[in-house]
This record gives sequence, structure tokens and C-alpha cells, in this order.
Amino acid sequence: MPFIATNPATGKVIAEYPAFNAVEVESALAEAQSGYETWSAMSFAERATLMTRAAELLESELPAVAELMTSEMGKTFAAAKGEAAKCAMSMRYYAEHAEEMLTEQIVKTSGSRSGIRYEPIGVIFAVMPWNFPLWQVVRMAAPTIMAGNAVAFKHAPNVPGCALYMHDLFIRAGFPRGVLRNMFVEVEQVADIIADDRIVAVSLTGSERAGRSIAAVAGQNLKKVLLELGGSDPFIVASSVDMERTIPLAVTARVQNNGQACIASKRYIVVQDRAEEFIEKFTAAMAAVPVGDPMSPETVVGPLVNKSQLDILTRQVNESVAKGAKVLTGGAPVGGEGYYFPPTVLVDTAKDSPANCEELFGPVAVIHVVKDLDEAIELANDIPWGLGGSIWATDDAEIEKAINGIDAGMVFANAVVVSMPELPFGGTKQSGFGRELTAFGMREFTNQKSYFVA
Ligand code: NAP
Repeated sequence: MPFIATNPATGKVIAEYPAFNAVEVESALAEAQSGYETWSAMSFAERATLMTRAAELLESELPAVAELMTSEMGKTFAAAKGEAAKCAMSMRYYAEHAEEMLTEQIVKTSGSRSGIRYEPIGVIFAVMPWNFPLWQVVRMAAPTIMAGNAVAFKHAPNVPGCALYMHDLFIRAGFPRGVLRNMFVEVEQVADIIADDRIVAVSLTGSERAGRSIAAVAGQNLKKVLLELGGSDPFIVASSVDMERTIPLAVTARVQNNGQACIASKRYIVVQDRAEEFIEKFTAAMAAVPVGDPMSPETVVGPLVNKSQLDILTRQVNESVAKGAKVLTGGAPVGGEGYYFPPTVLVDTAKDSPANCEELFGPVAVIHVVKDLDEAIELANDIPWGLGGSIWATDDAEIEKAINGIDAGMVFANAVVVSMPELPFGGTKQSGFGRELTAFGMREFTNQKSYFVA
């Protein structure tokens, strides 16, 4: 199967690239290995110069790259520009901070000198999803590359232009070829790539299904794997919530990226004394969200990524309704050209319905009403995932209780959960393991070498 980009707003094919054959796979791996050998011998200062140059180039090309992202996966042009700018900002951040994050740690022992050094390990193979087609690559690769590694990556097949853009950006910035190496390969080719001696570790951002498969292959080959998988993040509305401030952010938390974010809030858990007000205002705000052409500045929600995603979301809503859920707004595809699903609010969902057992990857919010904050936290944790979660309250005691109580990799208070270069990113339970970003993320793909001099 070739890599095909289809514009989700029109359903029209815009670009097509054949998958790599065996010779092309070999040449990509050889290039990545050779890139690693040159790159790992360079100083932090030299690496930082090139990473900063890549950031500058990206910044100078924001509108064009944003249009490419919008055309390939349907996010709004405004969101695409924001994503590309965040990539450039984070590349600069790691250019500036990598050296200090990987500074040798001196440890006091009985020896005359001892400590820990962080050394690069080689070429990491990264498998990427389409939903943040630039940021997912940068989030994984910028820290990993600044640590002295090379990254060979398989992007999702529907964003080939974005994959090539990132590959070319690093070459144009002056990086040795292969330090960030695109590979147009299919799922069937992945096991052999992971088994190749030149690949030292694997990173996947994607679904649980892909996570199980890639972790199994990595395990078979005794290679480290880092998994960033799905989630169904809770958005807890506590008694002390500032309702006026919270409502617009509650909408953003669900509809950002057309509802297709791993860390989007998917389950709204509201204490009963604020439930009526929240449900009424949130439903009205969701119903008022402008849906349409992702290139238009008025649009907040564009199309879903493809027909298959539209069908999955439609099935999930229909089955939930068949099990008793009530639709307060939205509830069915918009129809016509493109893969549009409107912002939707569900209440009274059965525990065993898709609304509660599956990840809803589209702008569909599920509201639960609970007695108090304890019950809210219990329900928040009653899922197989633990990616992020948020608490909306003005009372510090309520905020602390939620930060301590939510079993997730990231808990935010009075703010939409986002990734940022200054905080580690990752989940608990079936949301995966390992961390990206910060010193924690950088060290995942280093040899944490202890030394001891008697
Ligand atoms: P996906 O189907 O798992 O695809 C992600 C990537 O994995 C694609 O490149 C895909 O290639 C590849 N892949 C799938 N199955 C594979 C296998 N068996 N072996 C090797 N590679 C495989 O996920 P998606 O639908 O694109 O993305 C949505 C999911 O990703 C959601 O669950 C979302 O929550 C999660 N996600 C998590 C994070 C995070 O940071 N935690 C961020 C974004 C998204 P093909 O398309 O060619 O199969």
C-alpha cells in the first residue's frame, strides 16, 4: 500500500508515495547509522547550532507548513500554525537546555571519583500517529537527537507530506544526513526494522493495538520500547469551580484538534451541586462551536481525519445511544462532502457502552454526575488508561485532593492538559510507559553509565 494523503475536508487524494522496497529500507538504515556516528561525536554546542537553525527555518515557513498539515489531516489552519510554532519553540528549548539536562552527575561513594554520565545509544526507530503530524515527531525527536542519537521514523501513511517536510527540514538546516530519517514503510515491514542491529530502541505514539504489537516485537529482540498510547482523560468539575471561566476551556479541552487528541478531555465528571448549571452552559457552548472548512479563520472544528474515523465515532455514539445514552447536542455526522462530526454531548451513558469503555477520538463529550469529589476521583480512575486529567476548582484543598488522587501521568488544575517542553509527558496503566520531554525524556534513550574510580 502506498502512502496516500487525502484531504479530509474534500475526500480528494492530494499526494501519493510508494512504500519503500527492501533496498530503500537498507539505504535508510545505513544513512541513519552513519548520521548517528557523525552526530554523536559532535559537541552540544554544535548540535544546538543546527537545532536552532532548524527552528528558525520552520518559523520562517509557518504558513506553508500549516497549510500542508491542514490539507493532510484536517486540523484548522490556526491550530496548525500554533503546532508548528510550538515545534520551533521546543526545538530551541532543547537546543538551549540539553547540555545542562544531561550534565554528568557526580556521586559520593567510597571511591576517589564516581558518578553517572549520559551517553547516546544509536538509532532509535519511532512510529508516529497523524494527529499532531509535526509535534509528535518533534516531541520525540528533538530531545532524543539533542542527546546525540539519530531517529529513523515511520509516520502515519496519511501525512506523507509532513513526514517529508520534517526529514528535509533537518537536512536543509545542515544536520548530517540520517540524523532524522523518514521511512515510508508499512506495518508489515516494521518487525524486520526493529530486529535490525542498527536499531537500538523503539518509540511508538499511537493506539493500544499498535503498542501491544510493537512492544512484543521489541521484547522479542530485547530492545527498549517507549509507548505513548491512548486515554480517556477526566475533566472534574468540583463544587468550588469558577463556572464562567471554566465553560469555554471545557469546550476547548474536548474539541481541540477536531477532538482527536490523546490528552483531550473525554469524560466530564461533575459534582451534583454544580451539575445542572454545567450541563446547561456546556451543552450550549458545544452547540455554538463553528464547524466547517479548516482553512477558514472562523472555524473551530474541522473534519475528522478520514472516513474510517468518522464511521468508528458514529458507531460508538449509536451503540451508546442504543444502550440508553441521551444526546444533548450533535450526535450524527454532518453529511455532505468531508468527514465532519459536530460537537456532541452525551449523558446517562451505560457503564458498558462505548462512551465509557472506548476512547472517543472526535468531538464527543460524555458527562457523568457524581455525589462529591471523592466519587469523582473514583470514577476518573475507573478506566484502563491514565494519560492526563484535570480538576476545575478554586479551592486549594479540592485541587490537592485531585492532584494526589487521579491516577495519571499528568494532572492539571484550571487549565487544559497540554504537552510543554518544560514538563515530562507520558501515562500510567494502558496509556503506556516511559516519558517524553525534559531530562526524563532525554535520558530514556541514553546509556546512563555509572563510573567508579577507586
Ligand atoms: P495507530 O493506528 O496506532 O497508528 C499510529 C502509528 O502506528 C501509525 O504510524 C501506524 O501505521 C502505526 N501502527 C499501527 N499498528 C501497527 C503495528 N501493528 N505495528 C507497527 N506499527 C503500527 O493510532 P492512530 O489511529 O494513528 O492514532 C490515534 C491513537 O494514538 C489514539 O489512541 C491516541 O490516543 C493515540 N495517541 C497517543 C498520544 C500520546 O502521546 N500518548 C498522542 C497521539 C495519539 P499505519 O497507520 O500504517 O497502521
